[in-house]
Amino acid sequence: MRYVYADNAATTPVSKKVVDAIIPYMTEHFGNPSSLYEVGQVASRAVTKARQQVATALGAEEREIFFTSGGSEADNWAIKGAAALGAKKGKKHLITTKIEHHAVLHTMATLEKEGFTVTYLDVYDNGIVKVEDVEKAITDETCLVTIMYANNEIGTIQPIAEIGALCKKKGVLFHTDAVQAVGHVKIDVKEQNIDMLSLSGHKFHATKGVGALYCRKGIVLPNLIEGGAQERGKRAGTENVPGIVGLGVAITEACENIDENHAKVKALRDRLFEGASKISHSRINGDRENRLPGNFSMCFEGVEGESLLLMLDMKGICASSGSACTSGSLDPSHVLLAIGLKHEVAHGSLRLSLSENNTEEDVDYILEVLPPIIDRLREMSPLWEHIMEAEKVNQA
Ligand SMILES: *Cc1c(COP(=O)(O)O)cnc(C)c1O
Repeated sequence: MRYVYADNAATTPVSKKVVDAIIPYMTEHFGNPSSLYEVGQVASRAVTKARQQVATALGAEEREIFFTSGGSEADNWAIKGAAALGAKKGKKHLITTKIEHHAVLHTMATLEKEGFTVTYLDVYDNGIVKVEDVEKAITDETCLVTIMYANNEIGTIQPIAEIGALCKKKGVLFHTDAVQAVGHVKIDVKEQNIDMLSLSGHKFHATKGVGALYCRKGIVLPNLIEGGAQERGKRAGTENVPGIVGLGVAITEACENIDENHAKVKALRDRLFEGASKISHSRINGDRENRLPGNFSMCFEGVEGESLLLMLDMKGICASSGSACTSGSLDPSHVLLAIGLKHEVAHGSLRLSLSENNTEEDVDYILEVLPPIIDRLREMSPLWEHIMEAEKVNQA
């Protein structure tokens, strides 16, 4: 049986270059970067190099990059930090969207409990926020606008440069959760007027548990972890040297090949869309064009997403659905509801996220396996029966 990994938005395999680069930092160069002797200084220089690599990839300066344990930590730090800075000036309003990752939404919920006010912007049925809505939402009390670069479920890309320019004009801090975008689309934090940006290594072939926050110089966020002088004293603790080295290598590798990978992955994804759109009662979630190259997200009426995933798994295909299965609840994804899908339609969602490691054969295999699975699930579905009966009545 074939094995097709099509869940790169959840995590990616570590690239060979990354593996080769990090092994020495677990073996001969195992030193603590804070130690003065050579084995420590080798590690320290490697962390510096990785910081330069991340800065270069984003168009930032080395001192604007702070390593973290990943995207969630960077999101929490940026948002809670900006809220604390705002509160000092009596500004306790934040703006975000309805389709953010839970690292952002749950942070917002916590801030609301602490007396902050949060505006959750609509993204309409194409999954894209309107810049004029951002503008209307900004008040004298607003201390932060945080809008994700690209959505993890439906892949839609937000007008980041326009929002950045607006926030700059209004004097409001702008953060973006770019965890899905970094390494996949071109980013320049200066050109796009981004004040803070979160990224995570394991979404672009580095290891899990390492990421970074870009924070524009001049913005003095409160310290996240007190202790030693690591990360300019703002995020103490001995550095995850192998992870950080891998992050630097992975971001460089991704950015060097970004155009080539983008074209390759998009062509594969478009082939998937074309094939899967032939399935009746299906729809593409989010804007068809303005989305991450590797993101495929569709709903199939009369199909239960979890069953679909299990049957794909039996065929060796790793995929994801939009429903919040991890939380143990049967609520459909907040993202699919935000783009206006009805609960029963949102339940039949399928996300496939491709990377440059996928092949045409992978796509053809998925397209061979998917339609019969959907037919079988619909045969067993009372919901599908209802849909068919309703159609008969309408036609009569
Ligand atoms: C994966 C992801 C995160 C969380 O990143 P971790 O490194 O796993 O903490 C945050 N935001 C988005 C959009 C993501 O896709």
